[in-house]
Amino acid sequence: MNVMVCGGAGYIGSNMVALLAREGHSPVVYDNLSKGHRAAIGAARLVEGDLADCDRVVETITANGVEAVMHFAAFIEVGESVQEPLRYYHNNVCNTHSLLRALERTDVRKLVFSSTAATYGMPESVPIHEDLPKHPVNPYGETKWASERMLHWQSQTGKLSYAALRYFNACGAGNGGRRGEDHRPETHLIPLIIQAALGQRPDIKIFGTDYETPDGTCIRDYIHVEDLCRAHLLALDHLDSEQELIYNLGNGSGYSVRQVIDTVKRVSGKTIRVTETERRPGDPAVLTADATKARTELGWKTEYAALEPIVASAWEFHSRHPRGYGDGAEVPLA
Ligand code: UDP
Repeated sequence: MNVMVCGGAGYIGSNMVALLAREGHSPVVYDNLSKGHRAAIGAARLVEGDLADCDRVVETITANGVEAVMHFAAFIEVGESVQEPLRYYHNNVCNTHSLLRALERTDVRKLVFSSTAATYGMPESVPIHEDLPKHPVNPYGETKWASERMLHWQSQTGKLSYAALRYFNACGAGNGGRRGEDHRPETHLIPLIIQAALGQRPDIKIFGTDYETPDGTCIRDYIHVEDLCRAHLLALDHLDSEQELIYNLGNGSGYSVRQVIDTVKRVSGKTIRVTETERRPGDPAVLTADATKARTELGWKTEYAALEPIVASAWEFHSRHPRGYGDGAEVPLA
């Protein structure tokens, strides 16, 4: 299938492009390279463009015979979204609107959309089921939820079949540790701990040690990027017969910040300096997924259930590419 991957040069998008290619599909990457890396997508076709440019998206769809779209292009930093909500609404909501207009103009009906556990806000119970109320507590979660609602209403017209996949904590590196996380600036826990292990930052800061959890630090559900990508392929298959699919994607088990730090220490064999600091605003104590629906309806199985192999794949990427994609290494698609 010819699949346009918006944001395909980013972390999850590039792993998706590689998986699509391995599975015999023809991905075309549509990315403005504001965050993504050309080197992450090997020889995949790249159209450097912005989603706000609806005509360009239409041209790309037409020129490449695109039959389905996967949409990863979004800003993802919670803190930044609070500082600059209008940028987030523009990129995450207005540009999703622009993409939907392009799909409508070209009669492309299938869309797989990257959503997030941040749509739930501070959940009233864990593990989180898809039907729990959505009360996002920051513009990032709010813009993803607004986009989901737009997809819902567009699907009601019969012109769109979509899957919204709510990721928990995406991490790890695909292709045997060769395609990993390279965010500038980095804000995610696992790459930050690894940077501390590599001596690229003085320490790792724990944001809050007084949560109501066994060791006082926040618990999250870490899910390997390749497991996430496999769910996208399954969802795409199911869009042949379904108009609206909504799934949580997580392992269902949680690890505390201290457990993640200990795992990086074990995997890397390095000493890591830890500094305990105050809570980060808006962090719920525990976020874990009830992903039963994806497992039963899509037949989704995760290959990485435990944290250690996930961290090992991330360590492989960062120790091989200490400057991320900045060291010029192109990662082949296969
Ligand atoms: N965290 C931390 N120190 C850091 C970065 C993150 O203690 O330098 C914590 C954060 O408070 C959260 C967990 O690690 O409890 C995962 O944070 P991340 O930003 O990776 O993902 P999020 O859960 O916000 O999507």
